[in-house]
Amino acid sequence: MNGDFVVAYIALGSNLGDRKAQLDLAIDLLKQTEGIEVSAVSSYLNTAPVGYIDQPDFLNAVVELQTTLSPYELLGHCNGIEQKMKRKRLVHWGPRTIDLDILLYGNLVLHEEKLTIPHPRMLEREFVMQPLSEIAPAALYPPKNQTISELYQEIFC
Ligand code: ADP
Ligand code: MG
Repeated sequence: MNGDFVVAYIALGSNLGDRKAQLDLAIDLLKQTEGIEVSAVSSYLNTAPVGYIDQPDFLNAVVELQTTLSPYELLGHCNGIEQKMKRKRLVHWGPRTIDLDILLYGNLVLHEEKLTIPHPRMLEREFVMQPLSEIAPAALYPPKNQTISELYQEIFC
């Protein structure tokens, strides 16, 4: 990749249809995006739903990217992949073919209406923190100046 890039992390989740095929496809679509190089992919993790619990289990994963895209361009591509894969927004936090959330974007801290980075609920979600600490134990969680591995162990172990 040319020029300056930022290391970013995206969480993926699916709980409708062939969940593994959907994670694979979403990751392929990220790989095909200009300005994105996928540099690591976590294990896929089966998780029971939280929040609205009367729905199928999720398959979750986290990917590491090197990107020249801005945060909003990256969000636009994530939403584009969700739409291309015909995500249905019927129930808030309900079943979805695919969900892509930006977790970290370098050391950026952003609190805007359409985009909050780091992702506001990542620390409370084991299905995010476990795969993230698998591929990025030394990454910094900017608001706290602690590593992902330290936070994961503090919160979940
Ligand atoms: P959730 O992912 O919490 O289940 P949604 O995917 O339906 O819910 O949330 C969609 C909206 O959340 C997006 O349209 C986007 O504008 C907003 N959003 C805010 N911060 C982020 C982030 N870090 N990553 C992805 N979407 C975000
Ligand atoms: Mg989302």
